[in-house]
Amino acid sequence: KAKDLIRMAVTKVALMEPLKEAELDINRDVLVVGGGVAGMTTAKSLSSQGYKVYLIEKEKYLGGQARNLYQTWKGEDVRERLEKLIRDVESDSNITICLGAEIKDVEGFVGNFNTRIISDGKEETIKHGAVIIAIGAREYKPVEYLYAKDPKVITGMELDKRFIEEDPSLKEVKNAVFIQCVGSREPERPYCSKVCCTHSIKSALHLKELNPEMDIYILYRDIRTYGEREELYLEARRKGIVFIRYSPENKPQVTTKNGNLSIKVKDHVLKRNILIQPDLIVLASAIIPYKDEKLAQLFKVPLNEDGFFVESHPKLAPSEFATDGVYLCGMAHYPKPIEETIAQAKAAASRAMTLLTRDKILSEGNIAEVDPFICAGCGVCVNLCPYGAPYMIEEGR
Ligand code: SF4
Repeated sequence: KAKDLIRMAVTKVALMEPLKEAELDINRDVLVVGGGVAGMTTAKSLSSQGYKVYLIEKEKYLGGQARNLYQTWKGEDVRERLEKLIRDVESDSNITICLGAEIKDVEGFVGNFNTRIISDGKEETIKHGAVIIAIGAREYKPVEYLYAKDPKVITGMELDKRFIEEDPSLKEVKNAVFIQCVGSREPERPYCSKVCCTHSIKSALHLKELNPEMDIYILYRDIRTYGEREELYLEARRKGIVFIRYSPENKPQVTTKNGNLSIKVKDHVLKRNILIQPDLIVLASAIIPYKDEKLAQLFKVPLNEDGFFVESHPKLAPSEFATDGVYLCGMAHYPKPIEETIAQAKAAASRAMTLLTRDKILSEGNIAEVDPFICAGCGVCVNLCPYGAPYMIEEGR
């Protein structure tokens, strides 16, 4: 059997023909899709290395969701840094910004993409060698806990907006309750949104600074203040913020009567129901993806079942896709805090640069060819090819 196998293999090799690898030029410009912190950071990183960048954003302004954030968990002013980043990007001659832009069509492959966009009603085609997807994610608008029915029930980002505006009414709050895992870790959204535990504790500490007499409760399922964020949790405990654990089967019940909110929650230590009458309820609502199937299809990159983009390998290639020339960063990938977004944006830029620093790329030698003697001219391959490579010749078949 062994001899037969070897004989067959040798005969097969003898009939083979060498493959030819074609050399292709590389366009050194980069397209960045998304003008939030991730998109702007990666654009700035590429531009500082001398690459020309097209930064396209579907909104009429840059900044993304970070525009509504107050502070990072370390206390840095997000708005101040964001405004500086926007100024740097806008004044950078290597970066062309297209606002209100939508991608219509993408042709080509690594090193040579042609992307047709519509921006401000005008259509243009951008030629680029690589693309970085940084479209971000957004906050879930809850349907639970009387959100949108009672003005005293708000989301974590809405509280940040009130911090930014220095809303004086926050000092008057006597009793505030944070409810964690709103919309996350549910059957329809099983993932953890990662940032909301830290964000709620940071916000609770800020409320304590505004009014040290305020009673604050955090109703949680698990506290995920990982790494050094644990210090924030300890500080919150030291300052008298009360943590009460609830289970998914026994969620807090929020009711309102004559304009007064009340929350009933079962304390797992006391094994009794506790009744709280808050002036303010803050919901740690989930981070949800845009689930942009059209963009995924245009660049031939995968989404997971939740709608986030899937990287090529979580450890070995966390900021690139399996499709050559297409890279990824920010919350389009999964929920992450600003510092991780910035790190990944820089990683995506450096991965793109490893491609763009080359003079030429070699095409794969293994290609399909039409054999005119066998081809029946049915045209199925023309309709199906995602690259638009084959076309029909009218003469003969
Ligand atoms: Fe729930 Fe905390 Fe995870 Fe947010 S970070 S989903 S609040 S466990």
